[in-house]
Amino acid sequence: MTEAIVVLNAGSSSLKFSVFKSFVRAEPALLLRGQIEGLFTEPHFRAWSALGEKVAESVWSRGTELGHAGAVDVLNDFLAHQTADLTVRAYGHRVVHGGLKYSEPVVVDDQVLEDLARLTPLAPLHQPNNLQPIRTLRAHSPGILQLACFDTGFHRHQPLVAQIFALPYALTQSGIRRYGFHGISYEYIASVLPGIDPLAAAGKTVVFHLGNGASACAIDNGIGVATTFGFTAVEGLPMGTRCGALDPGVLLYLIDERGMDSAAIAKMLYKESGLLGISGLSSDMRVLEMSDDPRARLAVEYFCYRVGRELASLAAAMGGLDAIVFTAGIGENSAFIRERILEMGRWLGVEVDHDANSGRGLARISSAVSRVAVWVIPTDEELMIARHAQRALDVRDG
Ligand code: ADP
Repeated sequence: MTEAIVVLNAGSSSLKFSVFKSFVRAEPALLLRGQIEGLFTEPHFRAWSALGEKVAESVWSRGTELGHAGAVDVLNDFLAHQTADLTVRAYGHRVVHGGLKYSEPVVVDDQVLEDLARLTPLAPLHQPNNLQPIRTLRAHSPGILQLACFDTGFHRHQPLVAQIFALPYALTQSGIRRYGFHGISYEYIASVLPGIDPLAAAGKTVVFHLGNGASACAIDNGIGVATTFGFTAVEGLPMGTRCGALDPGVLLYLIDERGMDSAAIAKMLYKESGLLGISGLSSDMRVLEMSDDPRARLAVEYFCYRVGRELASLAAAMGGLDAIVFTAGIGENSAFIRERILEMGRWLGVEVDHDANSGRGLARISSAVSRVAVWVIPTDEELMIARHAQRALDVRDG
């Protein structure tokens, strides 16, 4: 019999999952990963082995509304029937918001679920989706351990000054503050850095998580001390379709002079801005990199410029810089973008090794003379969640 940990990441219209083999007090090992997309339109289930071979696929007809609860049933059915003698011991969930209360992963019980549901107004697009599979599983399999891991958690150790806005303090006290996100990815990077570059891990590192969503985090001796995301995940760096840092006066102008309401503004900020907004062409960095269109070039230039500026800002927040780490879709795959960003760090003593930078996977891409070590480290948020679930199982089982 194989004991397993299932990691779930529920998005607005998809449920991604990873299945790990559980080992007592040891690192879980990936067995399978997969996703069910189009949960409300035309559901499409696919699963791959750890080596990337497709092991299952099914498609439902257009108009089928599976929803998140239905997706959990499909997954459990797949696990029960297609994978011989697999026993699920725990589910680990990616949950966007833990508020101020939950800085560490937590075993879900009634109180936790109530607390997390109360945070929905802080992340209305994500929190309800994240919680739905937890509810479904609690109803179906009440005895199985469920662990919630938070995108905000890693940032709760920041000094207060890094977590507040200069708004009337009563608002800060009521919870309007910088929460930060992508924390599970940063926690993973911080967890592997000691084995890759012990000096960097003990020093001051800026990590760039550059995917469709993009943010950066200053990590000082393993502790997150500043980040670019704020109250929401629209702040900070420009992203595929999100604008990043914006003068709030622009919003007042759009409301007062252009008659835009909050729904129109939210659509613009989250779906129509960033790389897509500037280029008018695509939110996909690969498309923009290959384009000669002047606005596509401007979008790429703006992205690199803002990321490069943030490098210095985060180094200043830590009072130094020993290492830089790139991760996620753009950070792991685009040598061109990395090089452009790193050019803006030359004055901080960053020197790129061009050959190393054009490789793939885990690599040190700074030259021998660089004062700052630069690494590409693939992130693995699912493994981070599985590790936490394993620890929770180990604690429960004594
Ligand atoms: P998400 O935030 O949705 O998890 P990912 O981490 O998968 O996103 O990153 C998606 C982004 O990575 C897209 O902008 C995509 O164009 C970019 N990307 C992936 N591969 C490359 C590549 N080889 N060169 C440039 N950009 C890439």
